[in-house]
Amino acid sequence: MPIAYFDGHCDTVSRCLRTGEGLDRAGGHIDLRRGGAFSAYAQFFALFYDSAGTAEAGLAIAARQREFLMRELAANGERAIFCRTAEDVRRAVRRGRIAALLGIEGAELLDCDPARIDVAADWGARYVTLTWNHANALSGSNCDGADRGLTDRGRAFVRELYGRGILPDVSHLSDAGFWDVIGLGLGPVAATHSDSRALCGHPRNLTDAMFRAIGETGGVVGLNFYRAFVGPDGGDFSQLLRHIDHFLELGGEDVLCFGGDLDGCDALCGGMRGLESVPRLYDACARHGYDRALLEKLFFQNWLRLLARIDAAGAAKKTPPHEGRQRGQ
Ligand SMILES: [Zn+2]
Repeated sequence: MPIAYFDGHCDTVSRCLRTGEGLDRAGGHIDLRRGGAFSAYAQFFALFYDSAGTAEAGLAIAARQREFLMRELAANGERAIFCRTAEDVRRAVRRGRIAALLGIEGAELLDCDPARIDVAADWGARYVTLTWNHANALSGSNCDGADRGLTDRGRAFVRELYGRGILPDVSHLSDAGFWDVIGLGLGPVAATHSDSRALCGHPRNLTDAMFRAIGETGGVVGLNFYRAFVGPDGGDFSQLLRHIDHFLELGGEDVLCFGGDLDGCDALCGGMRGLESVPRLYDACARHGYDRALLEKLFFQNWLRLLARIDAAGAAKKTPPHEGRQRGQ
């Protein structure tokens, strides 16, 4: 039986630009043809580049990558539709299309400039990962300036993101930066592609306290399929299931989702080959004893619910106070 799948993070755009392939049929982990096998499929496509490798302004690179994504989606309109909101996702799914969403991995792509967030909002981006692996003008990262938290500019940047209905993504961030974002207390926080540090001691992963803190904001944590963050598993999903069990024990039923890092890493857990292996993961979860209601949350609904919540918060902000009162809200 086909399943529904909502994934919060892939690097397919930058991979395709590197290889010259299109989104429809590509030799990496993801393409639209394989995505068509799900009963419903929503995918965040992240813009990404390594800022150490070029002197070109990040925003110019982001614009080029985003243009590629929009061009590919337009050329494959019978398979996929670009979506900005939860309602867009629902509509795409009803029409039998893949729902493609936009994320930005690394604030360098916005030149680390709060004034550029307007551009990201116009593009329909719904999250910005504050750092990639390099420290930047906003914060230290998990592996570069790991003791450095948010700068003043970093705080201004996060404030502006919330103001435009864009989630701050704390995957890749330093621990100090993470707690600074939580400390601002401005709204839901996402870790789009990170696993449990208690089970695999990599600084890219989240401690139990971090996971709980994200849950308290109403945010989400997307499990990453990269073997270096999951841990050795002998080719089955036993180790990834331990991460799921662990986060569920921390109260993660409404927090946990997936952000597979497909096309962003070389070695996947559980012998996965790409998107086509997700149904096998679903089966492993079902055999492990998770019921269908829980699996629907993890595999689709938790991301959708968070999007709907920030959409509603944005709409409420735009509604003049007297109209809200007339409707008795
Ligand atoms: Zn990443």
